[in-house]
Amino acid sequence: MTPPAAVINDRGSARWRGGYPWVYRTELLGFEGPPPGLAQVVAVRDRRGRELGWADHSEQSRIALRRLSGDATETVDETFFRRRLAAALAYREDLRLDSNAYRVVAGEADGLPGLIADRYGDDLVVQALTAAMDARLPRLAAVLRGALGAGRMFERNDIKVRRLEGLELRAGELAPDGKPLAAGGSGAAPAWAEARIDGLEFRFDLLGGQKTGGFLDQRENWAAVAAYAHPGCEALDAFCYQGGFALHLARRGARVEAADLSRPALELAEANAQRNGLENIEFTEANAFDLLRHYDETGRRFDLIVLDPPAFAKNRSALPAAARGYKEINLRAFRLLRPGGILAACSCSHHVSADALLEWIAAAAADARREAVLLERRGQARDHPVLLAMPETEYLKCFLLRVR
Ligand code: SAH
Repeated sequence: MTPPAAVINDRGSARWRGGYPWVYRTELLGFEGPPPGLAQVVAVRDRRGRELGWADHSEQSRIALRRLSGDATETVDETFFRRRLAAALAYREDLRLDSNAYRVVAGEADGLPGLIADRYGDDLVVQALTAAMDARLPRLAAVLRGALGAGRMFERNDIKVRRLEGLELRAGELAPDGKPLAAGGSGAAPAWAEARIDGLEFRFDLLGGQKTGGFLDQRENWAAVAAYAHPGCEALDAFCYQGGFALHLARRGARVEAADLSRPALELAEANAQRNGLENIEFTEANAFDLLRHYDETGRRFDLIVLDPPAFAKNRSALPAAARGYKEINLRAFRLLRPGGILAACSCSHHVSADALLEWIAAAAADARREAVLLERRGQARDHPVLLAMPETEYLKCFLLRVR
């Protein structure tokens, strides 16, 4: 039985050959053979009939094909997926992380388009962003669970991009075979997991928390920023969530103020501080924009400030407003820092490039009449790899600056 073959135009083929893993609907010329069924792997060909490899096909998304393999001679079967999962696990082993919370599978960057899996200590959280991955999710989740010796398993398939694939939104615990547990509920009840990161103990809420429970992509930046803290220095973590930066800073002896708009996030951060016996953190429920302005007006000063806001630009049209937002908080932070102070300025917006963010930060420094040097240009933790041929996989920016 010959599988369906997708024929793509010259632009699509050129991008495919360059390593880009997506083919847009506008680059798809049509199908040869039977139309692909749901989640059926398709062969990919160029206009001249040359075989380019294998892809998942999407009926609904603007992204028509997502590359599974660039090798047309490869067989994409159960063993193929097991090999990809094993390679993803082996990569994380090689990183020798000082953490048992990390991203195990990062979609396209691990050759498994649309599949996300995060480990939090004994527990595993999975996410399928495409219809094809959703269809094979139970099998892959069960394989991962076995390979990691994980305890409980959860799905956080309540992420909105699934709608672009016509998928329902759901969250809950999965049975060992990867299928949803029958009496799953709505996913509102917390599911606590414990993990050890750089020798600190953290709790995560795998069902009620943001993302899959935590911002593991910032994990290596927590330690990198803390390296600039010294005993007694005053630090502000203005968007603290469950305390990744704040706890790392406090452990270095900094006197930390950790602020967030979300009450549950602060409660969790406070509980995390207590578990680690860290008493040098104060928790403030506040809108960071107001808090920074208030401190600016009242003359409060800091030696280190972390700005890790939510994505201000969820799409391109939001960029001007996002620029104003990033400039505003960075301007305030520059004004609040003592000479020699450190600013960690982050953005997790896909649509904000590193260069654009740096420009806005530079403009903020100029407006604050402060001179700064760039110490480090950082990105997401290495367990969230950036696929060289796909710039979009690099989304987290974290600049460390020193103010004069
Ligand atoms: N720094 C955290 C992740 C922060 S995510 C870490 O490394 O784990 C962004 C956080 O900002 C969320 O916890 C969200 O509740 C909070 N937030 C969103 N808008 C805010 C605002 N205007 N002021 C303060 N916190 C805000």
